Amino acid sequence: MDWKIPLSDIDFGPEEMLAVQNVLQSKWLTMGAATEAFEQAFAAYIGSKYAIAVTNATAALHLACVVAGLGPGDEAIVPSLTFVATANAVRYTGALPVFADIVGEQDLNISYHAIERAITERTRAILVMHYGGYACDMPSIMELARERGLKVIEDAAHAPGSELGGRKLGTWGDIGCFSFFSNKNMTTGEGGMIVTDNEMFAQRLRLLRSHGMTTLTWDRHKGHAWSYDVVDLGYNYRIDEIRSALGRVQLGKLPVNNERRRRLTQIYRDTLRELVPQVSVPFEKHPGISAAHLMPILLPAGMGRSYFMELMKARGIQTSIHYPPIHTFAAYRGKGRQYLPNTIDIAAREITLPLYAGMTDEDVYNIVRTMARALVFV
Ligand SMILES: *Cc1c(COP(=O)(O)O)cnc(C)c1O
Repeated sequence: MDWKIPLSDIDFGPEEMLAVQNVLQSKWLTMGAATEAFEQAFAAYIGSKYAIAVTNATAALHLACVVAGLGPGDEAIVPSLTFVATANAVRYTGALPVFADIVGEQDLNISYHAIERAITERTRAILVMHYGGYACDMPSIMELARERGLKVIEDAAHAPGSELGGRKLGTWGDIGCFSFFSNKNMTTGEGGMIVTDNEMFAQRLRLLRSHGMTTLTWDRHKGHAWSYDVVDLGYNYRIDEIRSALGRVQLGKLPVNNERRRRLTQIYRDTLRELVPQVSVPFEKHPGISAAHLMPILLPAGMGRSYFMELMKARGIQTSIHYPPIHTFAAYRGKGRQYLPNTIDIAAREITLPLYAGMTDEDVYNIVRTMARALVFV
């Protein structure tokens, strides 16, 4: 499909080409100096003590669940309105994801009250996901978690650079996980990052990322070691130098690109209010600074969503939905207690509009005008 306006797009230029070329010329491709530099730059930007780069955010979430101590017989509270990886990560450890509802039409994030109601004596952790880059209620959730002795893992895949109360998302909880998949605000193709201030977690995360081995090929190359022990049941979740070099360049562009996304979001909000007042726009007065990863809207109840998406597609505009709720998937039938009225109602009405830093203001006006015409027919 040749879209006039795609859902998302990547900002790559000569800087990325050069960074990759430099790695290729160095002939060192596996985790080494470029990865260390990327991790240090990311930690400095986010304001965390440690950053550990991994192969993708799903691996990041899995390792976060392992070091948080999740295992068979444990429960972790998760939203259902998120990408399936948030809940899968819990299940990889043998623990059970327990779904909690979202706040409502204005806030598509997991609800503090729903979390509180879902806690049992088996609960060990809470996984939050900052929908579209908009912050969950972290002050309340962290206070609850501290009171009950629960670990908090942030799925910050949408939220690199988002802030709440002057603090970057990903640093509120015990561990934060980021994604650099192709459609995210910054990308390395596939890639992920784990951030934490906990030294013990950081040490264990580094071990688990690479088979639980005490030294890396890189250490041995530098002559620092010639053998190793295996001290934990680890994985191969390593990133590589090509992607780390890309990541560093993309991280440099992130603040400007996020600012552009926020500006486009504001134009969307103003134009939607004027031309299509029948759709509701979440996160209108949300606190904090969003990375503006997604532009979600909600259709009025009963309006034909797939027909509307087809009309937009016929005019060359790609739309999507975020997300089919996890608890409705075949692989999740019968898993996790669930009372999710807001998730069910809102997920059925949600549509995601195109949003990326390279869009023009005129693109936004075009999309909203096209919506106004299409909505006459649905
Ligand atoms: C993209 C995404 C993930 C998975 O990231 P990968 O890097 O593709 O593994 C997890 N959670 C959310 C909310 C995402 O959007």
